Amino acid sequence: DGTLHRFRTIKFTYKDVDDRNLLAGVTVDMTEQVMREEALREANLQLELLATTDSLTALFNGRVFGSRAAIEFSNAKRRRRPLSVLVMDIDNFKRRNDTFGHAAGDAALQTVGRILNGCVRMGDIAARLGGEEFGFLLPDTNASGAIDLAFRVQTALTQQVQGPSPLTVSVGVSSMTEEIDSWEQLLCRADDAMYEAKRSGKNRVVHHDSLLASAIQPPSSPAISLEHA
Ligand code: GH3
Ligand code: MG
Ligand code: MG
Repeated sequence: DGTLHRFRTIKFTYKDVDDRNLLAGVTVDMTEQVMREEALREANLQLELLATTDSLTALFNGRVFGSRAAIEFSNAKRRRRPLSVLVMDIDNFKRRNDTFGHAAGDAALQTVGRILNGCVRMGDIAARLGGEEFGFLLPDTNASGAIDLAFRVQTALTQQVQGPSPLTVSVGVSSMTEEIDSWEQLLCRADDAMYEAKRSGKNRVVHHDSLLASAIQPPSSPAISLEHA
């Protein structure tokens, strides 16, 4: 009838009552079982995707970020390799939602997700940590490499975000040093730096090491002219 079936055949020899050597076979139609197994495999893949990915932005979720961070932290500590963390929060996002609607806010988050994905190298992790907050985990990257990445993100946002108003981020950066002895401490420093970026005027990058110095300004003024996304 034109449908495809899958069979499993088992062949074996045996002797009949007259002692003749015969070859026999049993064939079982496996179609349903194979289809069930394929559906299960697909469902498992979907589950894994759901458990690790943020559905709106397609970035990793905070859980993946946390577990990868713990691993990268102990690697970096043991091998005395650089490791940097970047925490990024969209500026005035509530106002954006209130002015242009939640759907426009969602579209902006998706655009940011695409831009962040485009800025990472192999081995880096870009994640949505929650709401309008994102994180980067940057193995083998020192402070200046991490700050460069933050500037690249700012520039990409300026150039690529189409929307009803400028979309800027405040970024906190922290990098591995001898005295940091937990992943949480490294993240906490990036958070502190991010809050300093907010406090000192937003749309800027602050490295934790420079908290006592003045905030680092982006390379070019992020004056953005934007159309609705
Ligand atoms: P700040 O510059 O200090 O960060 O101010 P803000 O307005 O960005 O921060 P605030 O924490 O006051 O507001 C964050 C807003 O982000 C409020 C919340 O409704 C919105 N938000 C969180 N998750 C989502 C989402 O998935 N979609 C949309 N559209 N909005 C979201
Ligand atoms: Mg915000
Ligand atoms: Mg926030």
